[in-house]
Amino acid sequence: MAQKPSLSHGRKSISASLKPRDLMDGPQRYVGAWTARVITLFPETFPGVLGASLTGKALQDGLWSIEPIDLRPFGEGKHRNVDDTPYGGGAGMVLRADVLSKALDQAMRGTPSDRKKWPLVYLSPRGAPFTQVKARDWAKAEGITLLCGRFEGVDQRVLDHYEIEEVSLGDFVLTGGEIAAQAMIDATVRLRPDVLGNAESTEEESFSNGLLEHPHYTRPAEWRGMGVPEVLTSGDHGKVEKWRQDMSEALTKERRPDLWKASKDD
Ligand code: SAH
Repeated sequence: MAQKPSLSHGRKSISASLKPRDLMDGPQRYVGAWTARVITLFPETFPGVLGASLTGKALQDGLWSIEPIDLRPFGEGKHRNVDDTPYGGGAGMVLRADVLSKALDQAMRGTPSDRKKWPLVYLSPRGAPFTQVKARDWAKAEGITLLCGRFEGVDQRVLDHYEIEEVSLGDFVLTGGEIAAQAMIDATVRLRPDVLGNAESTEEESFSNGLLEHPHYTRPAEWRGMGVPEVLTSGDHGKVEKWRQDMSEALTKERRPDLWKASKDD
């Protein structure tokens, strides 16, 4: 499925974006590349940090693509209002269901209706916690549509009607969904083939086997009076492996008893 774009994939795809020009001016995009469509009031914040380093290189190379969809043009009236006061009163504003649905309909155009192939997600502190397992599932999909909230959030009816999955970055409250979206896209895209280059590094890192990763050391061999664990310079690969596994288990037990317990229950 996930293949590096070859010549046969070299055709530019048709975009569902409101402004095709934006995409024409943007990075190369190839048919079949994993795509994140992001509904946001702040499209200029994308690709953001995802444009740097390995994810940025992969974006330029067309291994994945990002299509921010500006919520503002779907707003009501002269001022393109997207929010209103909450029924029942209280502080803050809520993104309107009618406005969001227009953006969602646009975003979902041309995407598979099977949510396994193309998840539809609202970034939300009330959602299920984002995990490496989730990133792996999303990396197997063809793409994803992410809805970024602002203010107090979105009208509940839109979540119910579209059966939108709510996913949280963690137990804290952000001002908007954009940072959460970028974090989740990063964790997903780096699992796509060819994005990291060295595939091994995603197999051995934290969480991939349910444990935290062992510590790392590099040159200089001595720094501020501290050496490196002798086993790492012994050249004995078997011993190194065992040390890493032991460290990984010890760290997980100490720092994340929840993960340790889960890894034993598997
Ligand atoms: N009133 C809401 C918080 C709104 S924060 C509540 O108490 O649950 C504004 C927006 O930021 C949300 O709509 C959501 O899209 C985003 N957001 C905030 N915290 C987040 C988190 N931990 N994970 C993912 N998205 C979050």
